[in-house]
Amino acid sequence: MAEFDVIIIGAGPGGYVCAIRCAQLGLKTAVVEGRETLGGTCLNVGCIPSKALLHATHLLHETHENFEKMGLMGAKPKVDWTKMLGYKDEVIGQNTKGIEFLFKKNKVTWLKGWGSIPEAGKVKVGEEVHSAKSIVIATGSEPSSLPGVEVDEKVIVTSTGALELGKIPKSMVVIGAGVIGLEMGSVYARLGAEVTVVEYLDAITPGMDAEIAKAFQKLLAKQGLKFVLGAAVQGAEATKKGATVSYKLRKDDSEHTLEADVVLVATGRKPFTEGLGLDGLGVGVEKRGQVKTDDHFATNIKGVYAIGDAIPGPMLAHKAEDEGMALAEILAGKHGHVNYGVIPGVIYTTPEVASVGKTEEQLKEEGRAYKVGKFPFMGNARAKAVFQSEGFVKLLADKETDRILGCHIIGPMAGDLIHEVCVAMEFGAAAQDLALTCHAHPTYSEAVREAALACGDGAIHA
Ligand code: FAD
Repeated sequence: MAEFDVIIIGAGPGGYVCAIRCAQLGLKTAVVEGRETLGGTCLNVGCIPSKALLHATHLLHETHENFEKMGLMGAKPKVDWTKMLGYKDEVIGQNTKGIEFLFKKNKVTWLKGWGSIPEAGKVKVGEEVHSAKSIVIATGSEPSSLPGVEVDEKVIVTSTGALELGKIPKSMVVIGAGVIGLEMGSVYARLGAEVTVVEYLDAITPGMDAEIAKAFQKLLAKQGLKFVLGAAVQGAEATKKGATVSYKLRKDDSEHTLEADVVLVATGRKPFTEGLGLDGLGVGVEKRGQVKTDDHFATNIKGVYAIGDAIPGPMLAHKAEDEGMALAEILAGKHGHVNYGVIPGVIYTTPEVASVGKTEEQLKEEGRAYKVGKFPFMGNARAKAVFQSEGFVKLLADKETDRILGCHIIGPMAGDLIHEVCVAMEFGAAAQDLALTCHAHPTYSEAVREAALACGDGAIHA
């Protein structure tokens, strides 16, 4: 039995970041991880592998769509699927090994195996019981399915199966038009599959600024994705040829079916706390299974904390990381804080979609007086030069004070552009602060500045 200041269960972005920061702050730290490799969902079957496939297929799309326009002639590349998956696995390996290196560098102990909490202050891994002053639940999440949909990870798959299909399907039905469904749907559409997205609501990407969601759907449709909205999926069944999805249209209850080689179930994720022994310990959980915590990530059991996908809030790697860092500071007797009002969300399709802060719908609901500054990438020289002039920046600011309240971008590198606005929001900046900041030309960032100018006397290039 070993004694630690902190034992963290789960080595995803929440757990591993918390561990590194705890160690940096002088705490004797261990992480329990049952997976063969570190990095959690994000590095193994989430953010990183999906971005590798998005990158490879984006380049494929570019060679087919835009190379000739730039005078780049020659044979168009064909896809070697096994090699593409190999590249994805290589990227995963580099990243997971990187965390192992960081653990060694920071003297974080990796306790290999599945952990449980038999009592406060104790963590059991296999037959060994270790003790710790503080225990952190960072066990993340797992895909959730629908009644009547039996996932086999071959024909009816979650995102995990979709990242390693045996071959490229000719057709795919994606159930759920959220971030994961649209990213993976884009990957397979670019690889030549006929992709149909079936969504319960009447719009894609629930919670996103409606104007952006509409523009996004249009652009995806132009890329060949088909959408069936307002459709309640009744079930999905594997057949000899692939799978059949049955759904009812909510507007008239009419029943329909779709056939496809592969069905991707992308209906969200649920917290993964199985086997931890939370019931026996008496840890409070929310209705949807998340661990209940207070503002300092403490559960109702003294010395037991929780962060990341296992607790409420957006299921995002960077949210988990920030909570991990904040909790480490708290455990070391300092002050840790996460500003949940400034957590960006990004969809890594082409174009990318990014948002932070309030949507226009939320501001309307709050009855807040606001102004909108918009700028299309059509007016951005750099975007035009690289065939990425579709989309726009939409900045929302308080009507009286000009303080930035939110920003929504659909366009090139939106996932990077959004951070300028995040920093501005953290500093309580006004739209005019962005508008009066010199931006290098020609950059996509100029579009953000122009949107800020549009909140005042007007954009220059629109
Ligand atoms: P996780 O990453 O889920 O890690 C938890 C770890 O705990 C796992 O490794 C698990 O094995 C381990 N564990 C669980 N129970 C135990 C136990 N009892 N004992 C030992 N170990 C245990 N987010 C983004 O921000 N950007 C993206 O681009 C993005 N893309 C995504 C794409 C896909 C396909 C998916 C599925 C998710 C994506 N996400 C993305 C979400 C992101 O992966 C999660 O929000 C993030 O991984 C949550 O981190 P976490 O540390 O809370 O948990």
